[in-house]
Formats: sequence, C-alpha cells, structure tokens
Amino acid sequence: MQFPVAADLLWSVRRAAGSAERPGPAAAGGRRALMAGTDEDAMSGQPVQRRTRSVAIGSVVIGGGAPIAIQSMTTTTPDQVGASVRQIAALAAAGCHLVRLAVPSPRAARALPALRRALADEGLAVPLVADVHFNPAVALLAAPHVEKLRINPGNFAATPRAARRPLSELIAALRERGAALRIGVNHGSLPDALTARLGHGPPALVRAAIDYLLLSQELGATALVVSIKASNPALMLEANRRLVRESPPAIADIPIHLGVTEAGLGRDAVLRSYAGLAPLLLEGIGETIRISLTGDPVAEIDACRRLLDAVPVVRRPRPRSAQRAAPGPARLALALPNASPPPETPSPTETEGDAIPVEVLLPARRGDPPESPTHADAAIAAWRHWLRAAGFSRAAQAPLGHTSELPDDRWPRLSPDHDRAAVELTTCLIEGAADGLIVPIDPGPRPDARQLAAAITADLGFADALLQATRRRLSRAEFISCPGCGRLRFDLEATVRRLQRRFGQFAGVKIAVMGCVVNGPGEMADADFGYVGAGPNRVDLYVGRRAVERGLTAREAERRLAERIRTHIETTGIEQRPASGR
Ligand code: SF4
Repeated sequence: MQFPVAADLLWSVRRAAGSAERPGPAAAGGRRALMAGTDEDAMSGQPVQRRTRSVAIGSVVIGGGAPIAIQSMTTTTPDQVGASVRQIAALAAAGCHLVRLAVPSPRAARALPALRRALADEGLAVPLVADVHFNPAVALLAAPHVEKLRINPGNFAATPRAARRPLSELIAALRERGAALRIGVNHGSLPDALTARLGHGPPALVRAAIDYLLLSQELGATALVVSIKASNPALMLEANRRLVRESPPAIADIPIHLGVTEAGLGRDAVLRSYAGLAPLLLEGIGETIRISLTGDPVAEIDACRRLLDAVPVVRRPRPRSAQRAAPGPARLALALPNASPPPETPSPTETEGDAIPVEVLLPARRGDPPESPTHADAAIAAWRHWLRAAGFSRAAQAPLGHTSELPDDRWPRLSPDHDRAAVELTTCLIEGAADGLIVPIDPGPRPDARQLAAAITADLGFADALLQATRRRLSRAEFISCPGCGRLRFDLEATVRRLQRRFGQFAGVKIAVMGCVVNGPGEMADADFGYVGAGPNRVDLYVGRRAVERGLTAREAERRLAERIRTHIETTGIEQRPASGR
C-alpha cells in the first residue's frame, strides 16, 4: 500500500508558510517551499543546491557543486595512536569522508605527525580535521598536520578583537599547508559579550559566525567552512536559515557543515538530527553533514548515508494515483494519550498549543466488510496491548471508537519506508506544517492479532520517536548526551541507558549526560539537568547551567537527580507518564 506524503509535504509546508489562520512559528524565518529553486526545480526531483565556493579538504572537495561529504569524529585523541588508527580505519571503511579528532592539549597536537605516519602505514588517506577549543596555541601546533581545523568562536578568544592576532597566525599556518578553517559555533558556548547583547537564540549564533568569518577572510583565509549547531533541532534549523539569509555577499558562498550537537543515543538521536538536517538539505543547504551519536562513531555513517539517500527520494514527486491512494476501509480513530504540550519556551519554529494527535489506520482484511467488528476487535486488542506496554494502562481500559472520516491534508502519513518517513515527517513536524499524524499499520497479508500488535508497536514506536525528536509530543524525558571523546573517563553509553531507564518517564524533562567538565557544562545548552563526568566515578550535578553538587559518586548522583527532578515536577507542574496506573 502506498501512502502519500511527498506532494502533501510540499503543499502543506507552502500552505503553512502562507496560511493566514496559522502563521505562527511555521512562517518564521522567511521559509518558502522546501526547495531553494522554482516550483519546476522542486518537482523535477533534482537537488537545487545553494551556490558555494569550492574548498579542498585534502583530497575531498566540498562545496562548488561537489556531493555532500559525510563527517564523523573519533572518541580518541591523536596521542592514542593505535586506538585512533583503528577508529579512523573503521570510519573510512564505513564511508566517512572526513574524520575529526579532538586535540585538547599540546601533547595531543604533537602526536599528530606520528598518527599520520601510522595512518600512511595502513594506507589510510582520509583527511583529518583537528577540533580545538580554548587554546589558540594548540591550534597553531596542530595546523601543519591536518587538512582542516575547527575553532569555536565561543572559546577561541574573549572577544573578536582579542582573536585577531592568534587567528592571523593560525590562518597563516593553515594557508601554508593548504588547509581549511571551520568556524564552528555552538549554541552552548556562545561568547558572553554576545549573549548579553543578543540573547541565546539564532541572532547571537549567526552574529558569532558572521563576525568570525568576516575577520578570517580579512586576515587572508579563503578556504573557509562554517557551522552553527545546537542540541535543539528547531533552533539549529532557524539559525542556519538565518545564516544563509543574513550573510553579507563577501561570505555568502562559504560551505556549511550541518549537525545537531549532543543528539544522544540511538534512534531518538538520529531522528533529532534528521529534524534539523533534513529541512535544510531539502532546501539545498549543507555541504558536509555529521549525525553526532553517543557511542561507536561508525554508527553515524550509516545514519548519514540513509539521510542523504532519502532526501532525493522525498524531493521526487510520486505518481498522482499513488498520492491519492485510498487508505483502506478499516480505520480506528485513536489518539496517543498524555498529549501535554511541550513544557518549554517555544522556539521560533515550534508550534504552541496542544501536542500533535496521532491516529492509527488499520488495514482491511480480504472478505471483511469495512470496519467489521471482528477486524476492529483484533485491532483494538492490539492497540490496548501497545498502550499497556507503553505504560498507559488506564488509557488502555478506556472505550475506543472507530471512524472512516479522513482528516484534512495537514495530516501527513507515516510512510512504510522509514528512512523516507523520517525525512518527510521530521520536516513537516518541525516546520509546524502538520496538525496530526496518521500511522497506517501494514502487518502484511492476513495478519493475526499478534502480528497486528507487533506492527502497531513498531510503527507507533517510530511515530512516537518522530514526535519526540521534533518536540511536537513529549511522551518521555529528553536525553542530550555528548558523543564522547578522549576526555571521557566513564562508560557514557551505559550511563545514558541506565538514566534513560530510571528517568525516561518524566515527559518534557531534558537531562544532559556529558562526558567531562571541560566542555560538558558549556554545551548542555537548554537542558533542565546536567549529569557531568568529573573524573573516574565522580559526577557533578547541574540544574540548568548552575553546578549544584560536585564530586558525587554515580549512585549518589542518580539519587540526588531523582530528588531534584521530583521537586522540579512539583514546582513546574510537568506531567509525567507513570509506568502504570494511568
Ligand atoms: S563533553 Fe567532554 S567528553 Fe563529551 S565530547 Fe565534549 S569534550 Fe568530549
């Protein structure tokens, strides 16, 4: 069965942009269609890429019409030569075009030549990118040994004025090697002077990027790349659109690297990244991408490839007949319970009001009359099973009805191709271009109740993850976690999984799990709570950006975090989804 979304997606987003009755956040940011070109361009299925200058990162060219490059980052530092070579080899084998390494110290920078020799011995020629924070002297040490170097305006120097001299020296070193410079702005580490003037939103992010790009260009840099990242995909999306719109002509053609920072673990993290990246790629914005995941970075490459494969498919219109395919006669109008609106300050692209309702479309069975009791009974049993499994036991006992009325065209449907659905629906949802979501269940021919329940579980779980990633329906806590790097001193992935199990039911609460106190607190951005590694089995707890307890054991930290979350819920009135008894 085919389910229409692509044409509806374009139509819906256009309508949202021009809608008189629902202008709100969806119309913000001068959004036009999903494509940067004309309607004909959009319907041709051909990518309409923003015009950018060509920048060589060693053997990989980005911008100037080159294919979009995939980037990842090791969890090692260059002085861990053997471990770094193994990770770089695995990343290159998976299809990674550019590999970034954190270079946190002079020792790490001085190890770069040895790492390069070891890579050459293995026949690995993947371009290396050095990631340097806080220390211009380290950047200068690393520059002669990499193809690109990333600095963060938030911590390179106290002010752009103070940055002039070290930046000038760095650019000279990079030019001598023929290496590129990325100005990488992060939401969590904006310069204080800028946030005091412009706040913590897109205007400050864009200003930081533009100021450093103009200064770099004035100091002689031409091989430039820029990025603006945030863990909130709506904010990252709006900031990148604004960057494209507001960059002065002299720097308007600089290639953009896209990423959502601290996205976290597994499918939620991938979808959160898609929510930020997919709309931009559909508009032809972005020359390199990274999907930042906690854990083994090799998983990032598959997620990037699937995104890049799905974007042209979404751009390609489906045949008219498929777009208008009937959904099948059996239909249950069922809503996911606990539809509380996101309890947070709405960002420019978030919709206020009720959380998005979800309806389930069930397949017709051959020989069953439409909405036959037999069919509906089996489907309702499967639905109740899912509700119970998801912790909605009271809702699972409530009466349920069914209908054959179709909602209007602002209700996109989940495609059976989940990669395609991830691109289409994260875009619709984060744009505020969807009033609801339809989940057509397709368990195969002549399914029994068990198969039906499994299909509902799979598809609703996916829909729930899409809504959570786009913050359009928060059914559990949101976890922000760094990808981990050489500074990490504990098992980050296992810690995130443990905290997810313990605190996942607190819908709407944002918990950051960060590997170290050096960058972690600065990068937590809009988290309500921070669990930050402060050494082996030592954790600092944060409320917002304030450290409230230091040097706790992991066990103490979890206990204290539980107490603080409960207090937070009592004072803010955030609803929580209980494990049972709702
Ligand atoms: S927060 Fe610390 S451990 Fe995590 S990626 Fe950043 S520097 Fe590495």
